[in-house]
Amino acid sequence: MPTPDAALAPELDDWIAQGLQRRRRAVRPVPGSGGVRLAVDGIERLAFCSNDYLGLALHPALVAAAQAATARFGAGATASPMVCGHSEEQAALEDELAAFLGRPRALYFYAGYAANLGALPALVGRGDLIVSDRLNHACLIDGARLSGATVRRVPHADLAAVEAALAAGSSARRRLVVVDAVFSMDGDLADLPALLALCEAHDAWLYIDDAHGLGVLGPRGQGSVAHWGLDGVPGLERLIHMATLGKAAGGAGGVIAGSETVIEWLLQRSRTYMFATAAPPATCAALRVALRLIADEPQRRTQLARLRERLRAGLRGLPWPLAPSETAIQPLIVGDSTAALALSAALEARGLWVPAIRPPTVPEGSARLRITLSAAHGLDDVDRLTGALQALAAAQG
Ligand SMILES: *Cc1c(COP(=O)(O)O)cnc(C)c1O
Repeated sequence: MPTPDAALAPELDDWIAQGLQRRRRAVRPVPGSGGVRLAVDGIERLAFCSNDYLGLALHPALVAAAQAATARFGAGATASPMVCGHSEEQAALEDELAAFLGRPRALYFYAGYAANLGALPALVGRGDLIVSDRLNHACLIDGARLSGATVRRVPHADLAAVEAALAAGSSARRRLVVVDAVFSMDGDLADLPALLALCEAHDAWLYIDDAHGLGVLGPRGQGSVAHWGLDGVPGLERLIHMATLGKAAGGAGGVIAGSETVIEWLLQRSRTYMFATAAPPATCAALRVALRLIADEPQRRTQLARLRERLRAGLRGLPWPLAPSETAIQPLIVGDSTAALALSAALEARGLWVPAIRPPTVPEGSARLRITLSAAHGLDDVDRLTGALQALAAAQG
């Protein structure tokens, strides 16, 4: 057998030759910029790429809470939550997450990826059916695979296809519809009321991943469930609600909220919960502050809406369409991968950082600039971006 180097070098060369190599940039937030200005490999850029949609990651109250908790609890949780890693901070965070999301109980995982990878195999298995939107996030796809359930991928946002898949799977022991509530590369919303009604009609469960809705949608930032006014609707007991806390909440981790029974089951059976070290208590402490700010200070959501309107108005008439989106994710669809990369590079030369997203992350022919807004941006920041894109479009003729 060849050594790892001998086996992998040609594959790596091939990967690079196909233009698929991804590179990381070492970043540092510019002080006082709320994280929207980053020193990137030492050079300052105005960034439209983070998922810190409310600008909370650098908020002094979160930082102070994390510092105080680090001093009391130490830098790490020291063990799995099942042993001695379930800190008082994590216990309090779980109670506050349940109240915030309006469900009886919540379970906090060290990462959103781990939440989906742990929960899906705990909920369904061989003999069960998962109906999965084609644009679902990678960790929903991986969790579905790991579960051993039969997975039916349906075209994006195609309710008729979901219905057909549920009808065809009526003999499965359990049927679970799995969707991103806000699609991560498009910013559009899954029609949760319609999906919940389909689940009612076909006696199925609905699992939503609200990574990009929490903090951004809903009157108090509770996310997609509140946005759609689903609190208290019939069938809500079929809903299993997952969200992440490393985006608008400015911290890290994932949460699953649901009934006492569902959460107790997940606590007993999610391997990524049981066999991984709990998140640092400092992260939990910062998140508790974030939840308060998200719920009580709507001005960040107001600012986000203002920035979004400004961006959409400023990008009208460009050769590249802006996909419809009422969230902080505003994708400019370029189409060709090379063209998207070139546009991203041209913006970078003007001091702007907007990442190009290419297949296989997005469907073939839909390479894009994934513009993300943060409440820490100013209108002048958005104007700088729209001005640069208009100039680049004009230069192309
Ligand atoms: C980011 C993301 C995750 C993963 O969450 P992490 O906390 O970053 O591990 C899961 N689902 C969706 C839709 C995401 O965008």
